[in-house]
Amino acid sequence: MFEVQNQPPPLEPYNLFASDAVLGEAVQREGAGWAKGELTALGATLGKPETIRLGFDANRFPPQLRTLDRYGHRRDEVEFHPAWHELLTIALADGLHSSPWADPKPGAHVARAAGTYMLGQIESGVYCPIAMTYGSVPTLRHAPALASEWLPRIFSRDYDRNFRPVKQKTSALLGMGMTENQGGSDLRTNTTQAKPAGDGSFRLHGHKWFMSAPMCDAFLVLAQSPKGLSCFLMPRWTPDGERNAIQILRLKDKLGNRSNASSEVEFHGAYAQLVGEEGRGIATIIEMGNYTRLDCCIGSSSLMRQAVAQAVHHARYRTAFQKKLIDQPLMTNVLADLALESEAAAVLTMRLARAYDEDSEAAQVMRRVVTPAAKFWICKRTPFVTYEAMEVLGGSGYIEESIMPRLYREAPVNSIWEGSGNIMCLDVLRAIERTPNAVDVLRHELGDGKDVRLKDATTRLEKWLAAHDRNDESQARALVRDLILVLQAALLTRHAPSAVSEAFCASRLNAEDGSAFGMLPRGVDFRAIADRAAPRN
Ligand SMILES: Cc1cc2nc3c(=O)[nH]c(=O)nc-3n(C[C@H](O)[C@H](O)[C@H](O)COP(=O)(O)OP(=O)(O)OC[C@H]3O[C@@H](n4cnc5c(N)ncnc54)[C@H](O)[C@@H]3O)c2cc1C
Repeated sequence: MFEVQNQPPPLEPYNLFASDAVLGEAVQREGAGWAKGELTALGATLGKPETIRLGFDANRFPPQLRTLDRYGHRRDEVEFHPAWHELLTIALADGLHSSPWADPKPGAHVARAAGTYMLGQIESGVYCPIAMTYGSVPTLRHAPALASEWLPRIFSRDYDRNFRPVKQKTSALLGMGMTENQGGSDLRTNTTQAKPAGDGSFRLHGHKWFMSAPMCDAFLVLAQSPKGLSCFLMPRWTPDGERNAIQILRLKDKLGNRSNASSEVEFHGAYAQLVGEEGRGIATIIEMGNYTRLDCCIGSSSLMRQAVAQAVHHARYRTAFQKKLIDQPLMTNVLADLALESEAAAVLTMRLARAYDEDSEAAQVMRRVVTPAAKFWICKRTPFVTYEAMEVLGGSGYIEESIMPRLYREAPVNSIWEGSGNIMCLDVLRAIERTPNAVDVLRHELGDGKDVRLKDATTRLEKWLAAHDRNDESQARALVRDLILVLQAALLTRHAPSAVSEAFCASRLNAEDGSAFGMLPRGVDFRAIADRAAPRN
């Protein structure tokens, strides 16, 4: 057998928290310094070879639908590889599904964001039920009786994989069913019917074209009731201990996100209870949407971080043409450019998470306006980053044993679900229009940075926001991109080393051509930026 040479050691074991300078600084800055001990412990758990292996196994052995039992009775169950359950056990033990609600305190959403940012790097599929459960809490609280029944189990950190009525379980996870075959963006087209059952509950007839994580214990579902589109809680089991009339037709054969099950379902008189005011279903469930959109920002930032960490790690060890890749000037430029994108996403995401910890008017504007804007831009950048980072590993990056193909396949999904790119940009226009003081608050957030390029870009953005045609839908993507780039530049100028903020302002604020990474201009300290992104324990 020939000798294996010039291959880097695997990036394991490593501590995802302790080795990530950008994350550590952000956690401290955004008010969750108290969580560093827990986050360091979680970072160590997630970076163990055996945990990393769970992520691979959960994707290599995707979930299987069992529609009927051997005698033909309906089962409507999905079976997962044990790795899926082990990953959920880790996530729940750390409270990633509900800790800011179960134990509210300043910085709680930031601490939880840092935890999910690390989880998503090791396995993104389990993030789906974690995000939906987290997002469901404010919506569920619109129905106090249901909340008092369900929240104690939603707050539990003791993951219970059993498929049985929730009263017999230690914990509960929640999903959501909004999208129907005829339209997911325009939810008013929902056709599922909800009929009052006479005892305060409803029976639902209809379908959902996408309903992910169907083994969740209950779902927030939209359906047309006598007073219009309303929000319901639909458990997998009825209060009588019967399987609810939710038929899982099939599981989607997805590009990525393969460890997670996404189903098509039909409701044949399924038991459900009203949440919030009847006829105000979209307003009720949209609260959940804001949190799950924050999670899309976290999830995509986390994919970028893992891709960049793997790329820089590889380049530090692999030699070509007598030099380490990281010492080859053109590669250093590529790595620095990738690291910039990842850091800008992480810094903005963690800043946004802090807005969910605060109650000020400024925080409300950040939540309402910046959440969809950040979701649009961060999610749009992720496929490019994962693709370019894959190439840093050369041919090995294209091979499943590296994590890169999985990251690449996962990359587009956060942009599609929870409101696709265009819908996010139109939402930003609407939010700016309807939120009092939105422009003033944004102006304050941008600050008066000293960098001349940032000043110019901020002035251009302010003019645009003040213009009579700012609501021109055809230009909404460009406006939202500019808003986020200026915001990211302002945050980096304030908080990152000057090598990072300099390079970001030089490359992102006046960019003529952003079509590929590795075109940072001369004068940038490429090596300092790449080194900062290196995952070092
Ligand atoms: C893996 C996966 C899991 C999912 N899980 C769930 C789930 O658990 N629960 C759930 O409810 N849904 C789920 N979804 C569905 C997802 O939320 C929808 O696919 C998404 O909201 C888009 O809806 P649609 O597919 O009907 O596309 P459409 O609404 O038909 O939109 C198609 C395109 O048109 C654009 N568009 C729409 N209106 C406008 C406009 N006015 N101007 C400009 N462009 C416009 C959209 O941005 C989009 O790009 C999941 C999707 C995926 C891929």
